[in-house]
Parts: sequence; C-alpha cells; structure tokens
Amino acid sequence: MNDRAANMLDLSAFWMPFTANRQYKSAPRLLSKAKGMYYTSHDGRRILDGTAGLWCVNAGHCRDEIVAAVQEQAAEMDFAPTFQMGHPKAFEAATKIAKHTPGDLKHIFFTNSGSEAVDTALKIALAYHRARGEGHRTRFISRERGYHGVNFGGTSVGGIPANRKAYSGAMVPAVDFLPHTLNIKEAGFSKGQPKWGAHLADELERLVALHDASTIAAVIVEPVAGSTGVLVPPQGYLERLREICDKHGILLIFDEVITGWGRLGTPFAAQYFKVTPDLLTMAKGTNNAAAPLGAVAASTRIHDAIVNGTPAGIELFHGYTYSGHPIATAAACATIDLYEREQLFARSAKLAPVFEEAIHSLRGARHVIDIRNLGLIGGVELAPRDGAPGARGYETFVRCFQKGVLVRPAGDILEFSPPFIAEEEQIAEIFRTVGEALNEVD
Ligand code: PLP
Repeated sequence: MNDRAANMLDLSAFWMPFTANRQYKSAPRLLSKAKGMYYTSHDGRRILDGTAGLWCVNAGHCRDEIVAAVQEQAAEMDFAPTFQMGHPKAFEAATKIAKHTPGDLKHIFFTNSGSEAVDTALKIALAYHRARGEGHRTRFISRERGYHGVNFGGTSVGGIPANRKAYSGAMVPAVDFLPHTLNIKEAGFSKGQPKWGAHLADELERLVALHDASTIAAVIVEPVAGSTGVLVPPQGYLERLREICDKHGILLIFDEVITGWGRLGTPFAAQYFKVTPDLLTMAKGTNNAAAPLGAVAASTRIHDAIVNGTPAGIELFHGYTYSGHPIATAAACATIDLYEREQLFARSAKLAPVFEEAIHSLRGARHVIDIRNLGLIGGVELAPRDGAPGARGYETFVRCFQKGVLVRPAGDILEFSPPFIAEEEQIAEIFRTVGEALNEVD
C-alpha cells in the first residue's frame, strides 16, 4: 500500500483496541507487509521489529513453513467442530505442545487468545476443587500490576488500574492482590533477576491468614510481568510462592502468554525458573501468531480429578466454537516443528546476553530512570513528563517508528521483545535508535 492508497482508506469503522483512536486516526501508522525481522510500512519503509509484533512472532514473520501449513489447511478443511467431534490437527498440536510443557502439565485445552486461556484456567481451578469436594475454594489471589487479558475473569485478577476502572463494579467478587515486585530504589538497573524482593512472596501467607486457605482456589501470576512494563521476579520469589501454595492446597497458575515458547531460552518460564505450576496459560508464540490461538496446560492431577471424577457425560462444561481450530492448530504444528528444527529457544538463550548488554547501554541516556531485562524481554522506564504521564513514552515510540524501528510503549515504559532470529547488529540497531529518539524527545 502506498501513501495515496492509505489516504483513501476509511479509518472510521474500525474501533481500535487499546488505542487512542482519535489520535491514531489523525496520524495513522499502517503496516502492510512483513518478512523475517521486518515490517513494511504503508509508505514503503522497512521497520525493524523490536517487539515480535505484540510479543508473539517469535520465529520471525511469514516463515515459509508456517505460511504453507496455513494455506494447505485452509484449502483442505476450513473448520470442523471439536464438541463431540474432532479432527487430526487439534490432537497433533496438543501432542506437540505437551512435548514442551513442564512437569506433568500434559493436558491441553485450546482457546483462541490469551484472555480466554486465563478465564479457562480460572474455571478449571474452580472445577478441580469442586470435583474434589472443596467447592468452597472460590477465591483467586493475583498481583498488582498483573496483566491477564481482558475478559471478565482476567480483568478481575488484573492489577493494572486503567484496565479495571470502567468495569470495577462488575468484577468477579473474590479476588485479592499480592504487591508487585518492582522497587527501583532497591533494585534499579538490575541485570536479570533482582536480588532484592523475595520476601514479597510472604505476603501470600498474610492473605491466606486473612481469608483462610479453605476459601482460596488459586494464585495466578505472570512469571515475568510483561505488559505492565517488564517486572522481573526477584531471586527466590517464584519458588517461595510455590512453597506457600503447596502448604495450603492452593493451585499455582503461571500466565505464560508472553514468557511461553522460548522468550527466556527455555520452552516455558517454568523450566527457566525450575518452578512448575499446576496450570499454565499460553497463546501468542504457540503458533507464531499466524492465527488466533491460546491454550491451557493442566497437570494430570487436575485433569484426572475433573475427567475421571465426573460420572459419565461431559466433564467440563466449557469450550469455544474455535477451540482447536484447524488452521490455528495447523500453524501451531508447523511453528513447533520450526522451533525444534532451528533450535530457536537455544538461539533465544544465546542472544539474551547480547540483548542485556545492548539494553543496558541506555543507562545514562536522557529520561531513563530504570532498565530491566530477562531473556529476550526488556523494559526501559522513562521519567514521566510533568503533568503528562505517558506522553514521553508515546512520543519516543512514534520517533522510533519514524526512524524505522518498532518498540512498544506502556505508558512511560518502553518494552522490547525481538524475534529470536534477530542478528546481533539488529539488536544493537534497536537500542541505538531508541537512544537517538530519546535525545529528540523533551
Ligand atoms: N496474559 C498475559 C500475560 C498477556 O501478556 C496477555 C496479552 O498480552 C494476555 C494474557 C491476553 O492475551 P490476548 O491479548 O491474546 O487475549
């Protein structure tokens, strides 16, 4: 698409998600093509993708094998139900996913997005306790600044105030929150996991004492909080959460929508931290974002309690028309084959120190008050402009786009998550460009 075609495009009907619609439509940024590490903008410029789209195109864009799998599946069978019916790709994809999930989390329930995966995991947690005669466990504990998607369950356990505000009167009732783990004073500019902060996990004991363990179904956290601005768990923190959950019979849910599929150099963050949850959500990188897909991986204990613990008939009254959609699962099969064949998780692990050095080169740059990273996830926090929080982050993002690099602003925090096929020079270019942009933004 050229500039003229873009100018003729009617932008009014599409109510854009998580977008300042009026601001965007007055100066649109359109992407028309993608290949490998690059997008092409509507005006024909090459845009280096520093964010893997939205933390999702882990293997790089439009990989031939995934494109072919989608095309073939679309031509062979567009749709088949998975309610009391089935088709091979959904089973094949579940088996391939289960090869990589941690521990005995080998039972895969398909959804269409991370948000649906979260709501599904919360419902499975409730169904599990009920199947065991502990239906009184209905409370969820999550964490301030957590992001768990936008459905009612995920919004209720979400800890980002702006995402809750308009809906706060209608949230799922029994939810309480752990404190988030960011403390720039104690652990600013940490490389990798901060040494400070494991004690914050003990807050869970306080909430258990307050509510009584018998009311709590599950704790849900992102192993590394992404969308809120990259909060890396302190050393020992996740291990401690696991211990406390075990002590009180509470399920631990890892929301791995961002950390899943190699972001930390292992298939899932659970393997990186050596902490195995009871339920794990994924989406995004599961099929390299080639079609909408999410999933929940459940442990054998949970699966068997619900499936074997129910008299004959449907065991879990839950599912989506598109659970295990043929095209989405065909893309997942091709993606997982590609991850394995090109050893892309090992490549992600190898790039992590390069990425760490490059992102921390911005220490001392204008406006920068903190830098955080783990694996191929990074955040650069800027001091907010007086009276205009978020403006500096947004303007830096726009400058970077004009200079040919896609970064992601979350308020005044710039987030980075490049595809694993990035070359070292491309990683350097991302942060060189951000440095230039910061010099130009007030
Ligand atoms: N959970 C986490 C940790 C996420 O980062 C996201 C999206 O970024 C979601 C859930 C929601 O996923 P989706 O946007 O696919 O619904």
